[in-house]
Amino acid sequence: MADLAARLAEVDERIADAARAAGRDPSELTRIVVTKFHPVALVEQLYRLGVRDVGENRQQEFSRKAAEAAALDGLRWHFIGQAQTNKARAIRAAASVVHSVDRSRLADALHAAAEPGEPVLDVLLQVNLTEDAGRGGVAPGDLEPLAAHVATLPSLRVRGVMAVAPLDEPPAPAFERLRDCAETVRRVVPDAGWISAGMTADFAEAIAAGATHLRIGSAITGPRPDRG
Ligand SMILES: *Cc1c(COP(=O)(O)O)cnc(C)c1O
Repeated sequence: MADLAARLAEVDERIADAARAAGRDPSELTRIVVTKFHPVALVEQLYRLGVRDVGENRQQEFSRKAAEAAALDGLRWHFIGQAQTNKARAIRAAASVVHSVDRSRLADALHAAAEPGEPVLDVLLQVNLTEDAGRGGVAPGDLEPLAAHVATLPSLRVRGVMAVAPLDEPPAPAFERLRDCAETVRRVVPDAGWISAGMTADFAEAIAAGATHLRIGSAITGPRPDRG
């Protein structure tokens, strides 16, 4: 717990430094702690340290941990992984934000999963910054029609874009392309100002390129247990 608190504080300091270096106010940034592969006990420890935003990338683990941690009032669960259409109902049931909407059918399924009277679900459109169509995300050229479609679904609210930096390229130019993608979405949904980008290895570059939501795992949690 002491180590966890120290790592969390150190990362928050580095986030604040990167924000100031970019002429930004650190308070505009949301730091999401990615807890994948770690037990729910870690989520509880993080909560006691003041963390209110956690992220998971696999639906079963996401649903299980969100249920196990249901007593943690005000904890927001961010779904950040590849989503299968047939898991949309389970994802919607636990998520405060879904970062990984990358096709119309997935958006349609999340919309169809809304229970009557359920609040609108915040979603981000995941963009593929690589040439490899097998990585998650919509190709930048297909982003505008996707945004236009999702914007027609009344139970979803398009908040912005999300991406993972490519492995074979420095992150800074890739995140600049993501910033252009965010502009594209804002032409369709003018108040969609969120940019979810930046992980342990590249959050400073993401902050420099305008990221508003950082998804940070191992720098805070320590190494992931070896499974999955
Ligand atoms: C695991 C994961 C992260 C966090 O990765 P770290 O390198 O541990 O910070 C962020 N985003 C996504 C989509 C992930 O799957």
